[in-house]
Amino acid sequence: MNERIKILADRLAKDHFLEKSEYLEIIQNSDKEEREYLAALARAERERHYGRDVYIRGLIEISNICKNDCYYCGIRASNKNCDRYRLTKEDILACCDEGYALGFRTFVMQGGEDGHFTDEFLVELLGGIKSRYPDCAVTLSLGERSRESYARLKEAGADRYLLRHETSDPEHYGLLHPESLTLANRLKCLRDLRELGYQVGCGFMVGSPYQTDEMLAGELEFIGQFKPDMCGIGPFIPHKDTDFRDFKAGSVDLTCLLLSCIRLIHPTVLLPATTALGSLEEGGRERGILAGANVVMPNLSPASVRRKYMLYDNKLSDGAESAQAKAALEERMRSIGYTVVVSRGDAKNNQ
Ligand code: SAM
Repeated sequence: MNERIKILADRLAKDHFLEKSEYLEIIQNSDKEEREYLAALARAERERHYGRDVYIRGLIEISNICKNDCYYCGIRASNKNCDRYRLTKEDILACCDEGYALGFRTFVMQGGEDGHFTDEFLVELLGGIKSRYPDCAVTLSLGERSRESYARLKEAGADRYLLRHETSDPEHYGLLHPESLTLANRLKCLRDLRELGYQVGCGFMVGSPYQTDEMLAGELEFIGQFKPDMCGIGPFIPHKDTDFRDFKAGSVDLTCLLLSCIRLIHPTVLLPATTALGSLEEGGRERGILAGANVVMPNLSPASVRRKYMLYDNKLSDGAESAQAKAALEERMRSIGYTVVVSRGDAKNNQ
């Protein structure tokens, strides 16, 4: 074991904080043994707050129509090969009905920035979900909207909002997005959401094109400062119809190391073992849980559209990834010593 990394890991577990240069040391000098040491510390921290419970979210991918053209994303506006779809209100409510019966108590509605989803549409939809299922949390992940829009959706019953910041380095942001999208506006959206009382999630891809180790150290520093309620990180995976098709995918090992660091930096954060982690490696989600994650988000979208929400090549959507295979997921979690629970699964920020 690298003694210096052990000292940094112990200090991180105790103080929940390191300097950026020290995060960089961990990122650059952790091998299997050091990663496992950090994962053990992260598991202990997670268990202090959440025991061995795993929270599940039913992910409903409501549309793959998007006005944006993020260079990494398979559903970007300029991808002519993407077979577009949009769910109706009835489709979405039917997903919730099915999810509720399966034991889901959080529904995540995610989609491209599709102009069809006006505030009026979403307010009615949220009203429908909340009146049927008042014991459930609703998470939205529909990209950048105005503060007024976020306020209306909050009032209509939305509890949480996921908006990955993607990178906290403005120049890197510019290499991943067209000029119409700016880091400044993303961060404004995140601040607005927080001020409006949402539980807020940010996050980033690991191994995205042009990302450096220094930038990843910066992401850890950003998480420590922003302290999101949720943090979605997963490996970048190239999509064949984007300009980034020839870039390498991010690493599962590095993603797990960063999950462990994030758990230690912000012990009560809700941290998903993402689909991208499971898509890149068999058992990737279990590895995420063992690195300190405590949330999984199986796919609850109608089977007919599931393969169309292709953010990256070979994205998992069937099998153990589907909400219908909850029993298989429960078994996978049980096999590593964790328990899927029926619960809204809010962040335990005040304990
Ligand atoms: N439109 C909403 C937004 O921008 O937040 C939600 C949908 S967006 C497709 C969800 C997330 O997918 C993005 O925040 C991004 O990090 C991730 N994603 C997109 N393309 C990806 C890729 N090629 N590899 C890994 N993750 C990707």
